[in-house]
Amino acid sequence: MERHQHRVLLLATDDRDREGLTYLLALRGIAVVPARSSEAALDALRADAGFCLIVVDAPPAGAAALPILATDRTRRLPAVVARAPGSEAAEDDTARGCHLLAKPVDPDAVRALLVRDCPASHARSRASFA
Ligand SMILES: [Zn+2]
Repeated sequence: MERHQHRVLLLATDDRDREGLTYLLALRGIAVVPARSSEAALDALRADAGFCLIVVDAPPAGAAALPILATDRTRRLPAVVARAPGSEAAEDDTARGCHLLAKPVDPDAVRALLVRDCPASHARSRASFA
């Protein structure tokens, strides 16, 4: 029986943020599809329905959680937005059901969210988070 591998769509405009987090998540056995722009992220979502989670690392200041989170396709996916809490945009993100993480993104926090929110891991992992 094949084990489920988590797949994350990572949108980060900063090259170092994107490459660093991709590496740290890969070390934890999480497959990452990196995207450097909202357009690239949308393309990835259209091409691949197998994502467990969307991680948005520091969208441009003032921009609330991104067009990608407003599409029908992505609304059902849990999403994480990494940015400074307390900003107006952060409140918008929270209102849309996004998790907020502080920067720099803690890869273990991302993994914990996957364990909690990934539909494929729900059945077997729910007990440990109850
Ligand atoms: Zn998963």
